[in-house]
Amino acid sequence: MSLNMFSLEGKTAVVTGANTGLGQGICVAYAQAGANVIGVARRSCQETADKIAVFSGNFTEVIADLSDISLIPRIVEEAGKAYGRVDILVNNAGIIKRCDAADVTMEDWDSVININEKMVFFLSQAFAKTWIADGKGGKIINIASMLSYQGGIRVPAYTASKSAVMGMTKAMANEWASHNINVNAIAPGYMATNNTENLRKDGQRSEEILSRIPAGRWGTPEDIAGAAIFLASDAAAYVHGFTLAVDGGWLAR
Ligand code: NAP
Repeated sequence: MSLNMFSLEGKTAVVTGANTGLGQGICVAYAQAGANVIGVARRSCQETADKIAVFSGNFTEVIADLSDISLIPRIVEEAGKAYGRVDILVNNAGIIKRCDAADVTMEDWDSVININEKMVFFLSQAFAKTWIADGKGGKIINIASMLSYQGGIRVPAYTASKSAVMGMTKAMANEWASHNINVNAIAPGYMATNNTENLRKDGQRSEEILSRIPAGRWGTPEDIAGAAIFLASDAAAYVHGFTLAVDGGWLAR
């Protein structure tokens, strides 16, 4: 076996939510693995670009608000112009709104479902159509969550959306595997990013969470890199519809 099967040399990847957190970590990892990376974000990805420039990797940004489904054709078009054919899509952008279930508004519910679920499906569909048309296949990696498996507390819309991500990953894989399109997901555990800032500031919840993680620490964007590269690479050619937990052992408890 050659380790070249994990290389992303010559491939082009689109990563949503590329300006910070896990998305930024995946962009840097992909560029280190040799890919041309296109970051999609609603604001500048300069920090990500700077991290990739350190080792002279290739990075371009597409600015788009991912709550606006009508922007999908522009995202696909601009991504296609950057380096030629896109080979990999990572649906990473997501939001979380913490609120007692009894008080969740329909507006908040819709905003979470729109970005975490509806955009994930229709952006995947848009790239899959191009891959089905040219017959060359592709890789889709969705970012799921521990709340794809569990209920969580005070985040019911987020749980609904991330449970949907795991389900959609299987549904898309079933239809597109025969087109040489691999659809898989990564379920991060509790990672130190903006997403969990409020949790980490809450002494009691932070302690509860940490004491349940067998690895004994919060995860980092670098912890996602290996799984993200594997699922985007030729090494994952026969992996379809699977959600890979990168969780410090959380689900093993
Ligand atoms: P984060 O730092 O909050 O990153 C979320 C990313 O999504 C940011 O780049 C954010 O952009 C982007 N985003 C949100 N709304 C957007 C919009 N309307 N248009 C464009 N971009 C938008 O948190 P993270 O932890 O890295 O989250 C990345 C993914 O991992 C999310 O899907 C999250 O649910 C998932 N996840 C995280 C954890 C964790 O413990 N951290 C665990 C499981 C799953 P802005 O910076 O502009 O807001």
